[in-house]
Formats: sequence, C-alpha cells, structure tokens
Amino acid sequence: MPVIREDDLIASIAEALQYISYFHPPDFVRAMSAAWEREENPGAKQAMAQILVNSRMCAIGRRPICQDTGAANIHIRYGVEAKTDFKRALQEICDEGTRQGYLRNANPLRASVVVDPFGDRKNSGDNTPCMLTVEMVAGDKIDVEVAAKGGGSENKAKFTTLNPSGSVADWVVKTVDTLGAGWCPPGILGIGVGGNADRAMALAKAALSDPIDLSDLQRRGPSNKTEELRLEIAERVNALGIGAQGLGGVTTVLDVKIRSFPTHAASLPVGLIPNCAATRHVHFTLDGSGPAAFAPPELSDYPDIVLDQASAHARKLDLDNLTDDVLASLEPGQTLLLSGTLYTGRDAAHKRMIDMLDKGEPLPVDLKGRAIYYVGQVDAVGGAAYLVSKAIKAAKPVAFEDLGMEAIYELKVEDMPVTVAVDTEGNSIHKSGPAKWKRVPVLA
Ligand code: SF4
Repeated sequence: MPVIREDDLIASIAEALQYISYFHPPDFVRAMSAAWEREENPGAKQAMAQILVNSRMCAIGRRPICQDTGAANIHIRYGVEAKTDFKRALQEICDEGTRQGYLRNANPLRASVVVDPFGDRKNSGDNTPCMLTVEMVAGDKIDVEVAAKGGGSENKAKFTTLNPSGSVADWVVKTVDTLGAGWCPPGILGIGVGGNADRAMALAKAALSDPIDLSDLQRRGPSNKTEELRLEIAERVNALGIGAQGLGGVTTVLDVKIRSFPTHAASLPVGLIPNCAATRHVHFTLDGSGPAAFAPPELSDYPDIVLDQASAHARKLDLDNLTDDVLASLEPGQTLLLSGTLYTGRDAAHKRMIDMLDKGEPLPVDLKGRAIYYVGQVDAVGGAAYLVSKAIKAAKPVAFEDLGMEAIYELKVEDMPVTVAVDTEGNSIHKSGPAKWKRVPVLA
C-alpha cells in the first residue's frame, strides 16, 4: 500500500492555504453573482459588485481576497488503515504546512494569530497554530478540509441550548438580526443541531464547507426536514433586509447549511457560525500518490462587471482638509472616494493610545483632523483586499511597530472607495438600510 508522506501533507496544506487566499470557491462566485443580479438596493448591489470584481482581480493576480487572511482551520478525516511516514504530532505537521502557506514569498499572507489570548496577545508571526480537528474514519486515505476563517465572521459565532420543543429557525433568525454587519454579509450560515455543546459548534463549522446549492433546493423543493429548515431560515433571514455589508438589501445569506447529530432527550443544542464574503475553503485527499493538486477555477464563472467608481453618486473627499462642516455634510450610505493621508489603527493601537492619554502622554501621531482606517497592515506584496489596495499609493509605519499587523501606518490613498456608515449625528446606514429593506417573509 502506498505510504502517505509527511512532506506531502505539509506541501498540500501550504498550497491549499495559498489557493484559498486568492480563489473564492466557484459555487460561492456563482451564488454571489446571482445575488448581485437580483439585488434591488443600489448601495448593496455596488457592494456586491466590488466583492465580485475584487474576487476576479485576486484570482487573476493571485493576491488575497481580504486583508484578513484568516486563521487556518484544518479538519482531518484520518483513515485508520492509512500507511504514513509521519514522525511528528499531527498538530506540528499541520502547523508546518500553515507556516509555509502563510510565509510564502510570492504571496505572503497576513499572520493574525496571537499566542496568549488573555495576556499580551503577541502575534505568533506565522499564523500558527492552526485550528486542527481530527476524526478517525474507515479507509486508508487522509482526507483534509482546509479553511481560512476571517475573524469578523468567527466573532459572531453563537450557541444555545433550546428546550426540545423549541424552534431552531426562530432562534437563528432572532440571533442573526442582532449580529450587525461585522460578519461581512452576504455569506453562509453554518448551523449545527444536536450532539452536545462542543459537537453542535463543530457541526456548524463543518457545515460551512458543504456546497452552496440553495437555488437548486428552491427550484426542486425540500425532500426532508433539514431542507425545509434551510429554506425557512434562508427566507426569513433574507427578509430581515440586512443586505450586503449591512447596507440593507434583499440578500443577506447565500445559503444556510445544516448538519445534525443525535442528542440527549432533554436537550436541543444549536450552534451557529456565519461565514463572510471572504468564504475560503478547499478539500483534498491524500492516498500516497504525492501532494494534492489544485485546479484554478474558471474565470467565466464571474459576471462581466465594470465598476464605475467615479460615478455621479460618489463624492470625492480630501482627507487632508477635513473640517467639521465637511464631516457634518456626509450622509449615511453615501459613497466616497477618499484621497490624502489615512492612518491605520485597530484595537491594540486604540487601547495603547487611550492608555497614553489617561497618563497624560502625547500621542505618537497627531490625529486632529485625521481619519483612521480600522484595518491590520499587510505585506505590500500580499496587498489588502486587492481592489482597495489599488487605491493605496504609499504606506509606512509611524508608531507601535511592536504590535505587528496592528501597528499604526500612514497611508497615502487616492480615490479609495468607502461608504459612510454613521453620520455626525449618529444616524447609521446599518439601521436605516435594513429597516427600509425589511419585508414579510414568504413561507411555503
Ligand atoms: S470579509 Fe470581513 S469577516 Fe471575512 S475575512 Fe474579510 S474582514 Fe474578516
């Protein structure tokens, strides 16, 4: 029987992580394209167009779909009869694949994993460790699912234990309505029903790798309870009107995937994990014949979209001359093209600046009249989400370099497209947009 080599698993994981950093799964592209075609809210339609154009550019240029290149989630189904030459623990082997995938010179991916979650949160530098789960199964092969899960959507994971007579659909719809736009919709909902607390969450995560086929299901109709539940949740969640990037619109989820497992008679555990517009996963099998090969997707899956960023709807904004009057004139939902100086700053930088202000110390950067871009810096070769990276003309670190990707960078941008989320009076497009597009669900 052929021997599955440690080096082949490492090389395959590294290649898989590179592959999913720049290729959306084809079923995701097709579902997003269909959603873009039927979207009625112009703002949400534009957001979807940007997602699709960015995705196509990333596929061609082999650059990351999003600046958050995720945490590596690896699930291995290990055939009990598989012959291997493995000498190290599976965690170490998969970490080596993760390291090689994220540190590749031709397309370095942002390392986002911090070592001590409730201590000093120092970045591990190579995105290790990966989140590894292993299942022993019948057979002589090693089956691997690799995903790169964004922090924004992972942060919105939820769990509950319902009464056995409780409604899974009611809980999911009510919960998604509270998630806001931080999970970067449109995306997929992974739902795990049954088992126990940890099994329900594992089922929800695994469900996110199932193929997107909601439109097929809508056409042919449900043939079991799970499919009925998928249709009900998809319709009711989309009727919430949240829309692309929370701007309001007809599509919030491209599919709802559900996996279930037997459970205790007293329990109905439910796990919910959303996946974002940067859904990234791929599957491969090792049988001893060498590392996995990954075929690039067909570019013909992408719709022909020309982004007219300088359209009459977009307003140019000079970041070097921001006054109170200019800021007061911005309207929620308005598209802006930003030019000038922008500073990056995420949670760690904000916290450090607050601490400095509390101690009466001067800030390392004068932020008066300046804009902050809530983003983690990435390698210039890797690029931010490719579409946005085209607007960034120069970047240099100016403070807190020890924070790694959370350091403060000074960016020079030109016509960088953004949407006004909240105006100076606190009015939010994430409230008014969904309120406008909310509708009564049509249930069979
Ligand atoms: S699309 Fe949003 S949630 Fe997904 S990886 Fe990018 S920033 Fe994170």
